[in-house]
Amino acid sequence: MQHLTRPMSLDGHDVTVTASLGVALYPADGDSLEVLVRHADIAMYAAKDSGRNALRFFSTDLRERLSEHLLLERELRRALSEEGGPELHLAYQPQIDLRSGAVVGVEALLRWQHPTLGSIAPDRFIPVAEQCGLIEAVDRWVLRRSVEQLQQWDAQGLAPLRVAVNISAQHIGRADFLPQLEQTLCHAGPLAQRIELEITESMLMQGQAELRERLLALTRLGPTLALDDFGTGYSNLGYLKRLPLDKLKVDRSFVTDLPGQPEDEALVRAIVSMAHDLGLQVLAEGVETAAQRDFLCQLGCDLMQGWLEARAMRPEALEAWLRQRSSMSVS
Ligand code: C2E
Ligand code: MG
Ligand code: MG
Repeated sequence: MQHLTRPMSLDGHDVTVTASLGVALYPADGDSLEVLVRHADIAMYAAKDSGRNALRFFSTDLRERLSEHLLLERELRRALSEEGGPELHLAYQPQIDLRSGAVVGVEALLRWQHPTLGSIAPDRFIPVAEQCGLIEAVDRWVLRRSVEQLQQWDAQGLAPLRVAVNISAQHIGRADFLPQLEQTLCHAGPLAQRIELEITESMLMQGQAELRERLLALTRLGPTLALDDFGTGYSNLGYLKRLPLDKLKVDRSFVTDLPGQPEDEALVRAIVSMAHDLGLQVLAEGVETAAQRDFLCQLGCDLMQGWLEARAMRPEALEAWLRQRSSMSVS
């Protein structure tokens, strides 16, 4: 590794590279070349994950992670392929206007109820889906189901809501990203205008000009764009003016210690003011207390989402919650 970090001269330019190294030992980590190389490969990916230019030995911990990964991959593939995806469903969390208290939309959050493993959290299976290339199928499934849900709510005469759908960074980076979602969005007709796509900062690191074109083409099909988990990525703020965004979602980590934590207060105040100057709406994620809500409202934050108002619910529970809320506001 030391050898590799020495600068090299390419066409008169000094360049440096770093290496990530994975190590598997015979015989503890495998007794054939094939197994040893595979395990060294896994250790190498773990080294990359830990910040690159690092060295990792294969370990039982990695072995367990690998077998969990393989299990989840196989089971998710099966769950997605089953007609109607009966193990998968969407839960919807309300998004609320801080000033009026009106429910303006919901975020669709994927839930997986496995017959023997029980309920599996998205934080566990989404990264697996991203790594094994299943994420496009997941995102398409969620988008299609969200559009069907909007149609159903309209047919039931529910007041029109927006539905926010998470799109993985991995997915947007792919060349066939647009055609994949295009079909579903065109099929949705005018309902596509009530879809909001949530993207995260990490994907904005990729080729900026190309990304802008892709996102513009996407918004022409109807949906608006929100930047999710804002403040946790690399925050190259230039993209805020270049990309066709409508909304910033302030990450929960900045909301948790409000009010009373001076640094977080300053950051959220600055984010709200900057977003407004750029013509963007601001939504605060993970609002759990009335004190947080009141503070955010004072700052001029537009929207909130969090357990203080409601957790993500199945459609029937959401419908009941909305009915109860509207009867309360009438009386
Ligand atoms: P996210 O998009 O930032 O979603 C918000 C997460 O915060 C959700 O967790 C939600 O249940 C949780 N949350 C909401 N309000 C509160 C609160 O007041 N307190 C606390 N402690 N948590 C709150 P969830 O459903 O476990 O989802 C986690 C992440 O998984 C999501 O973060 C999103 O990145 C990803 N994800 C979920 N569904 C999908 C999906 O359909 N497609 C893709 N690509 N990713 C998804
Ligand atoms: Mg989200
Ligand atoms: Mg978020």
